[in-house]
Amino acid sequence: MDSNEIPERVASPPDLEPCPCCGRTFVLETLVKHQKICEKNANKQRKVFDTSKKRLSDLGIDQIEKSSKPLPPSKKKNNWRQKHEDFIEAMRSAREVTHAMKTGAPLPTPVSQKPRVNPDYVQCPSCSRHFNESAAERHIPWCKEKSKRIGAPEKKKEQLNTKTKVAINIL
Ligand SMILES: [Zn+2]
Ligand SMILES: [Zn+2]
Repeated sequence: MDSNEIPERVASPPDLEPCPCCGRTFVLETLVKHQKICEKNANKQRKVFDTSKKRLSDLGIDQIEKSSKPLPPSKKKNNWRQKHEDFIEAMRSAREVTHAMKTGAPLPTPVSQKPRVNPDYVQCPSCSRHFNESAAERHIPWCKEKSKRIGAPEKKKEQLNTKTKVAINIL
């Protein structure tokens, strides 16, 4: 009887059954053990997948896209703001240059060299521009005199207009 069993085993390959979950083939005994583990794993994966799918449908794809995107646009906004500030700063310093040329005050340091917000800068009470200490010392009394000559501080706009006209003439 023994002699019959051995050639049978060799002749017919062991019963291999495919796992319904992963499709891998196992010997029946192993498959039973494997299938339990494999089904658990598959269920876990399915559960995660399903909940995420439900979340997608509950919130709406648009909202998720928006909520997942906010970082890049805010960065862009910051960049844009900084660029805008740089531009304004450049314009301001350009105006300061013409202003300084007229007043004889030292030219303001270029934008790239001077810090964005310098707490040491003095604000001119007449034209509310910021100057470094040495420039403010010369500018503020000059600016006061000028605003006195022109008249009340309400006429600041006129003052600005004449200034821009002068600047245009210079250019
Ligand atoms: Zn499996
Ligand atoms: Zn001034």
